Amino acid sequence: MRLLGALLLVIALTTGAPPAAADPRWEFYTDDTTRYGSPWFHGRHRIMIPFGCTRAPYYSPDPRCRRNRGFHHGIDLAMKCGTPLTAGRRGWVVGTQGLGPAYGSKVLRIRNFTHDWDVVIGHARRVLVEPGDRVLAGQRIARAGANAAPDGCHLHFEKRAIRGGLSTAGRPRPLLDLRARR
Ligand SMILES: [Zn+2]
Repeated sequence: MRLLGALLLVIALTTGAPPAAADPRWEFYTDDTTRYGSPWFHGRHRIMIPFGCTRAPYYSPDPRCRRNRGFHHGIDLAMKCGTPLTAGRRGWVVGTQGLGPAYGSKVLRIRNFTHDWDVVIGHARRVLVEPGDRVLAGQRIARAGANAAPDGCHLHFEKRAIRGGLSTAGRPRPLLDLRARR
């Protein structure tokens, strides 16, 4: 009996706390395993698909990319469903007409005239603000989801020109302000 007790203790110690629940649908198309923080979301999360040409199979072949690869117009960060998203900078919430169904039905577009950008946030589970609202830095604006995304809950963060279409999407990373520490 003493042996059984010791065995149970060993099992309890080695299994430990359950690992953080990963979404089984996540597929990572980058070697970067760093968990980043950002003023745009709570917690620290891994990049799933970077901006630009990618071997991720979800995008049509793009003339800018070699080997028939597609072009990802934003940056995707894998995060648990429901993770709070916050406004990293102040701005105005504007309408989402013309974005198309690929971003999901809960999509958010924020405009900052001073710094000359629109931000598009896709695949949210919930959007907490409405067109016409002013948002302040740090304000909760949405919750991450997998709305219209085949690859699990994540944040799709895209930077565009003011009122710009998809072709104006540019490198989102400086605005996303990813921080590897703290
Ligand atoms: Zn994306």
